[in-house]
Amino acid sequence: MRAPTLTFAALLAIATAASAQQKSVHWEDLTAEDFTKALAESRNTCALPFGIIEKHGPSGPLGTDLLNVRYTSELAAKQEYTILFPAYYFGQIFEARHQPGTLAYSTKLQLDLLQETVSEMSRNGCKKVIIINGHGGNNALLNYFIQVQLDSPKDYIVYVVSGVSSASGQSPAAAPSKPGVDGHAGEGEVSNIMAHRPELAHPERAAEESGKNLRRLDLPQGVTTGISWYSMYPNHYAGDAAGSTAARGKAATEAAGAGIAAAIRAIKSDTVGPRLQAEFFEAAKHPNDTKQ
Ligand SMILES: [Zn+2]
Repeated sequence: MRAPTLTFAALLAIATAASAQQKSVHWEDLTAEDFTKALAESRNTCALPFGIIEKHGPSGPLGTDLLNVRYTSELAAKQEYTILFPAYYFGQIFEARHQPGTLAYSTKLQLDLLQETVSEMSRNGCKKVIIINGHGGNNALLNYFIQVQLDSPKDYIVYVVSGVSSASGQSPAAAPSKPGVDGHAGEGEVSNIMAHRPELAHPERAAEESGKNLRRLDLPQGVTTGISWYSMYPNHYAGDAAGSTAARGKAATEAAGAGIAAAIRAIKSDTVGPRLQAEFFEAAKHPNDTKQ
């Protein structure tokens, strides 16, 4: 009997699948030798999925944001290869310090640790560092952090990708069951957990606490203060997780993964950002030579 022959395309597909299987997207899974190969494949990009450890109402685990951002980043990195930094959750979460299990590092440490982390990533060859934010409370920190990257010359560039982990609306299957269910620890975030770690989600406990906005602070629009969030949501729960489903989470996380993959692709091919940053750092050494 003749052995079955494989077409070139089939052989190529098998070889591609085998090499994809061999190379993990996770920094900590790679050998040192494979890490250098992974850098070539990622075109010297590396991503830092940025989560937090905080209460997620009565239904979500403390690591909801960390687990969800790592999951969507993994979906993305498998579509558009990049190296994912190990679990990172040293962000801004002072507003939940009154709740069990919250890890709130000091302001100075948040900034120093993040700066040293991206610097170490760069020293290891990650010349484009992509911070993928999975926690709303990190927005304030990251807005400041990204701006202060210009304080001194760097041979790497940092990008922040935010807003892609809440992908509701991008796909009809990811849409909320009704208005007002999608706040912190609500239907969206808990559905996302159910898509990949269903054993950690407890939507049946959603009504044990209120996720309603208590509107206890009456200030004009445009005026805010640090205690604003607590004045609205003292249970650190905004919305309603009762209608969470794995199907919705699957649609939302897949949409988020595709959005992050598109961002990684655009960052890989960005040549303008690095060129302008280098030009700026050089000009900033002698500002009086800048043409007026
Ligand atoms: Zn969250």
